[in-house]
Amino acid sequence: MRRKTMLIHGGIPGDPHTGAVSVPIYQVSTYKQEEVGKHKGFEYSRTGNPTRAALEKLIADLEGGEAGFAFASGMAAITAVMMLFQSGDHLVLTDDVYGGTYRVMTNVLNRFGLEATFVDTSDVANIEAHIRPNTKAIYIETPTNPLLKITDLQAAAAIARAHGLLLIVDNTFSTPYFQTPLELGADIVIHSATKYLGGHSDVVAGLAVVRTPELAERLHYVQNSTGGVLGPQDSWLLMRGMKTLAVRMEEHEENARQIAVFLAEHKAVKRVHYPGLPDHPNHELAKKQMRGFGGMISFDVGSLERAEKVLSRVRYFTLAESLGAVESLISLPGKMTHASIPKERREQLGITDGLIRLSVGLEDVNDLLDDLAKALG
Ligand SMILES: *Cc1c(COP(=O)(O)O)cnc(C)c1O
Repeated sequence: MRRKTMLIHGGIPGDPHTGAVSVPIYQVSTYKQEEVGKHKGFEYSRTGNPTRAALEKLIADLEGGEAGFAFASGMAAITAVMMLFQSGDHLVLTDDVYGGTYRVMTNVLNRFGLEATFVDTSDVANIEAHIRPNTKAIYIETPTNPLLKITDLQAAAAIARAHGLLLIVDNTFSTPYFQTPLELGADIVIHSATKYLGGHSDVVAGLAVVRTPELAERLHYVQNSTGGVLGPQDSWLLMRGMKTLAVRMEEHEENARQIAVFLAEHKAVKRVHYPGLPDHPNHELAKKQMRGFGGMISFDVGSLERAEKVLSRVRYFTLAESLGAVESLISLPGKMTHASIPKERREQLGITDGLIRLSVGLEDVNDLLDDLAKALG
């Protein structure tokens, strides 16, 4: 089954009992047992729920993994995966990971003895250089937010294998439609399904997929023990969004490509970050490991004052956090999503005050181009 078809027919499609073509919402907490321990595979909905199970099978199919797990948010998924480790364990992570990932590692999980080192993984030599005797995993986001840096997943997987580490990849930006990390050697894939997978700014959810039965058993144990599961209504809503993932991603990318080219040629723009542009430092690598470059762009207009002017003038780009939905969004990472990072560190990373991030939506691209042309003056 090809990827596009899998979005429609993958997982556990429909309802075998009635023929309903949409998976029913099993709004239920517990299940009748014929006798003690004799049941139809479901006992209690924290442990397993048929609607959630259909979603979990679907994401496992899409990522090519052994099993999928659905959580109440991307952060709940990330936290559950971190619960596979123990006090004294160390991880090497991408330095410009999602802000919430940085926060949970440095302000919450550190209190339980989980150690984290953040390095620029787009140069994989940095990973190797920071592996310690107690390192247990490499955690990568690619492309990164907001600078769209790319890490070579096959090279990272080779390092992980050589040192006996798990490779964990946050695949939120690419989705399994454009990138499948397990096929490149990763062990665990994580999603904030709140973004492209849901796609309509109407659900908060997280997903994880694991490569082996052993990891599946361990992560299910954590999911059932800690309980941050996704409810049946949101599981259904997410599956509904995912059916159109292919057409949405292709259109997001086409719009983003045209906008990136327009920005690259605009004299008020100092720099454009988009892996689909031939002058992006990791363009060739992106072409090799991804099937598409996605819908995220960031660009630098030189100063906070100019960036704020652009933000105040756009009409179709909504000023908001989040990304990956049908409506185009605009944000200032330095003042919004990445404000908690000290200015000096931000500038080092390249997240300058004049950096604007776009999540390119599905409006008519000509309206989006007109909008940006006017805003840039
Ligand atoms: C949003 C996001 C998260 C966190 O997901 P939530 O659903 O908001 O909890 C994690 N990683 C990336 C890359 C994200 O964009």
